[in-house]
Amino acid sequence: MKKIIAIILALFIVCLSMTGCSGYNDVTADIEVQKSQDNYRNFYQIWVPSFCDSDGDTIGDLQGVISKLDYLNDGDPTTDTDLGIEGIWFSPIMPSYSYHKYNVSDYYNIDPAFGSLEVFDTLVEECHKRNISVVMDLVLNHSATDNPYFEQAYEQVKEGKLDDYAQYYNFTKEGQSGVYHAVEGTDYYYEGQFSPEMPDWNLSYEGTREFFEDVTKFWLDRGVDGFRLDAVKYFGDAKTEGNEFLSWFMDMARSYNPDVYVVGELWSVNSDIYDCYPSGIDSLFAFGFSNSDGNFISFTRLGNGQELIEKIYKYDTRIHEENPNAINAFFLSNHDMVRSANALSELEDKKMAAAICGLSPGNSFIYNGEEIGIKAESTDSDKYYRTGMIWDSEQLPDITINGEKAVVDSQYGGVKQQESDESSLLNFYKRIIKIDNQNPELARGTITEVVELDPAIGAYFVEYDSSKLLVIHNVGKEEKTVNISEILPEAQIRADLVASDCEEYEKKDSQWHITLDDEGNLYLPAKSTVILK
Ligand code: CA
Repeated sequence: MKKIIAIILALFIVCLSMTGCSGYNDVTADIEVQKSQDNYRNFYQIWVPSFCDSDGDTIGDLQGVISKLDYLNDGDPTTDTDLGIEGIWFSPIMPSYSYHKYNVSDYYNIDPAFGSLEVFDTLVEECHKRNISVVMDLVLNHSATDNPYFEQAYEQVKEGKLDDYAQYYNFTKEGQSGVYHAVEGTDYYYEGQFSPEMPDWNLSYEGTREFFEDVTKFWLDRGVDGFRLDAVKYFGDAKTEGNEFLSWFMDMARSYNPDVYVVGELWSVNSDIYDCYPSGIDSLFAFGFSNSDGNFISFTRLGNGQELIEKIYKYDTRIHEENPNAINAFFLSNHDMVRSANALSELEDKKMAAAICGLSPGNSFIYNGEEIGIKAESTDSDKYYRTGMIWDSEQLPDITINGEKAVVDSQYGGVKQQESDESSLLNFYKRIIKIDNQNPELARGTITEVVELDPAIGAYFVEYDSSKLLVIHNVGKEEKTVNISEILPEAQIRADLVASDCEEYEKKDSQWHITLDDEGNLYLPAKSTVILK
């Protein structure tokens, strides 16, 4: 008992001494949250069939998305109640017979399960009212087998005709097992890298390009702001035909909208991503930093901030060598991966990884449900990564995938429960995005220097438009004190985030805060972030 009293007393004295000399001064409150006017944004990935069902058929739809837009961004930058994202990547919504819609039957329409072109137009309008960019998933690599182009191609090849519709796809007699599939009654095969249900387009053929130009123009005319390109890896070798096609696509899309934003899915090693950036594409997802074995999650678990920041610095520098206009695209997980909540068991680690991902240079993509810590029930199949969004854990949604119930409760409650809990993961995400929107240097800047303070601490200077910030993440499990008087004299705290529960620190506005004293000593709780100027 005596011991406990002594500890409490000691903590009290520490607390007093810190508050006495630190002068934590809440500058954050006064900094304007800026609305993005460019393509640097925090994006939110919506898996449409699982997000919100408006009509009770157990499949999420566009009207359901519209009903939840205020949750994502209410259009008023002065409110703190919304997530604050300014872009949405929508999973495929064009008509398709597969539940995931990644093989398109009709590139000019909306799948009836999700709505109609009219509802889509309303969705775009409602997004734009809130400064949300609309990024559509565009599947250029392959179509569905009932796409009219493939149906005609297939019939013609069966009749031995190879000079017409067959040119839109890749037919050959030299079929390699696995990715080539037999054309019934002939000795021809067609390429389908993913499955026989997904025949690959011939992207070198002029006719295919004319078709996709028309498709791109069709959606841009409806107000779409950009595209997420699926399966870029299969467009062809990055250094040759793949990049040639991507360059063609970018030039074409920019000829209709110079501000179009395009992010590519090139799920491969860093060197392939570097090789693809010269194509002129705005962004490529940074796969090496995502997933349960990627850098964000691995180094957060290890508590090694310095090595993580060095990797970010190296990666960010390399992509800008390949394309000075590159916008990095960081994310923790997506619909093809085990959810980040599975890989990071501690709440403080979920918060820490989200802060580093969200505040690093470039764009960040949050996969719906990640902000409330939804876990995958199993890792057996993709469908477990795509379960229903939990709006209220006391009223679980009736969401199905292929007719099978697909709902897993979040261990921390749903959106409703987390909104009223100041220390929730959801409210932590809101603060990350707010800080990002208050400090344009973070996303738009260049890392000019990695600062070595401690292996647990990742620290760097980031500079944009002649303004320099010092970003420090203590990723370790222990609190740290570092002196920054020589690194950044007369530093001022611009923003802070404390992911761990550390009661000896100051709490203001219901949050723990980092303190900096007059001698430049910075007291960093375990798992915390501070931005200084
Ligand atoms: Ca529905």
